[in-house]
Amino acid sequence: MKRRAFFKAGLSLGAISLLEPLKGANLLSSSFEGVTSGPIVLSTWIHGLEANRAAWEVLSKGGKAIDAVENGVRITEADLANRSVGIGGRPDRDGHVTLDACIMDEKSRCGAVAFMEGIAHPISVARAVMETTQHVMLVGEGAEKFASENGFKKAKMPLPEVKKDWEKWKKENKDVFKKPIINHENHDTIGLIAMDANGDLSGACTTSGWAYKMHGRVGDSPIIGAGLFVDNEIGAATSTGIGEAIIRVAGSSMVVELMRHGYSPTDACKEVVNRIIKKHSDLTNLQCGFIAIDKKGNFGGYSVYAGFNYALKTSTEDKMVDAGFDRNW
Ligand code: ASP
Repeated sequence: MKRRAFFKAGLSLGAISLLEPLKGANLLSSSFEGVTSGPIVLSTWIHGLEANRAAWEVLSKGGKAIDAVENGVRITEADLANRSVGIGGRPDRDGHVTLDACIMDEKSRCGAVAFMEGIAHPISVARAVMETTQHVMLVGEGAEKFASENGFKKAKMPLPEVKKDWEKWKKENKDVFKKPIINHENHDTIGLIAMDANGDLSGACTTSGWAYKMHGRVGDSPIIGAGLFVDNEIGAATSTGIGEAIIRVAGSSMVVELMRHGYSPTDACKEVVNRIIKKHSDLTNLQCGFIAIDKKGNFGGYSVYAGFNYALKTSTEDKMVDAGFDRNW
């Protein structure tokens, strides 16, 4: 799985003069994990493999990135065995499975839903918000009302096995609110970004959020700029991990902004991870990971702790890649 290769990427002096160098940016020599020409799909964690394939069905027929990203993450949302995405997700402290999702296209149009219950495909509701309303985000009852008015069916949650786990958790955690260990064992948020044959970028992010969170809590995943950001001139980025830490540094938009200033996708993700590390004195279990693609087809990822990996799909690759990381657990 350790298939990372580091290359030296050089920018021409002409290109450099167009860029506003940031402190710490090494514009002449940056590391990246790979480059591809043609369509590419990148998504967080092992569940990304299947999602990428569904996205690829769209891209390989010349379809648009926005359709690919929605098609991709719907697979993860539909997987009832997935405990961190969709209606199979773990509930909050009070036993409610609340879902968050957002989507963004190549025209910087975006839509999001948060704190929404009982709808199997939050990503499609987010897309409907984007395409049929003047708004970007609907939450809670408003999002549920909008979903049912737009033909999305009610799903019953939590699943009996999820409820059983929650009851056990409640008994064992009377006073404490533990931080979850974010890793591929508890499968996480799916953030999926793609570039189509036209070179257009889009992204989607969907989750049931931090298991056993406070009722009403919303993390980074449905927040444009935190859990997902796309700028079709520059690139796309998405995140997973403790959403509070990602929101504090405007994570995904910062990754894209750093790419605008000459950072490779990997270096941009690393710089944002470094900011998270700097701003948190207690890093216990504070896992956060980012993945990114730039407009030229370079891609990469980085996380605070070891163990974060992402799925890559191109015309020649279909595999997991271990992201670089700052430290071991
Ligand atoms: N980022 C998600 C949240 O904070 C959780 C995750 O990715 O594990 O809700």
